Amino acid sequence: CGIVGYIGKGQAQQVLTNGLKKLEYRGYDSAGIAVYDGEKVQVSKSKGRIAVLEERLEQSPVLGSLGIGHTRWATHGRPSDVNSHPHTDETGKFSVVHNGIIENYLDLKQELQEEGVTFVSETDTEVIVHLLSSLYDGDIVSTIQKAASKMRGAYALGVITEYEPDRLVAVRYASPLIIGLGEEENFIGSDISAVLEYTRDIYILEDGELAVITKNDVTLMKIETLETVQRNIFRVDWD
Ligand code: GLU
Repeated sequence: CGIVGYIGKGQAQQVLTNGLKKLEYRGYDSAGIAVYDGEKVQVSKSKGRIAVLEERLEQSPVLGSLGIGHTRWATHGRPSDVNSHPHTDETGKFSVVHNGIIENYLDLKQELQEEGVTFVSETDTEVIVHLLSSLYDGDIVSTIQKAASKMRGAYALGVITEYEPDRLVAVRYASPLIIGLGEEENFIGSDISAVLEYTRDIYILEDGELAVITKNDVTLMKIETLETVQRNIFRVDWD
């Protein structure tokens, strides 16, 4: 339902929970974040209000400057802590938030299970993160391209991996996603309101594009060819 992401110099936890609150109006049943703490990705997520997540985070904060967050509106699998996003692979090295539906998830799930992968949730989303883990070739961008060629349906994704902690990847396929451009920090959001507190300079991702985002750079590419695309900055002049 709602996606936020952050890479930069500040605390991701703060930016992500702020962004998720801006997306509350869309409705949701669960909320969660994943933050890279310099060594590992820490996930905190739960069914219910963002306030529940915030309480957990107050008890055990996740410190770091790279992260993704999600408010879920369940389509596959009931609302529960385990079914909440972000989802992580078995090694814990890959984390994903997803808006939309992977239509062929049952086929993909079966293939992955035959390879020996154990699923923990009932979501369609979980296949994405196991696919990334199983297809990983040392470059998260080409790995996403390979995974995307197997997935059908609609998806906007935020992806992080411990293997490449200087990157946040955003993917748009039939579900909206924008990039917010900051100073030594960049953002992603499923709508502009998620990042408006931090920046008014936006790249609107188009269908079939992904963005490779670092603290200081954003590169947009076509998912199918990984050909770079140019985009004009959209400056938000409303509140
Ligand atoms: N299909 C996914 C799920 O049920 C994502 C739903 C959403 O867009 O929030 O977990």
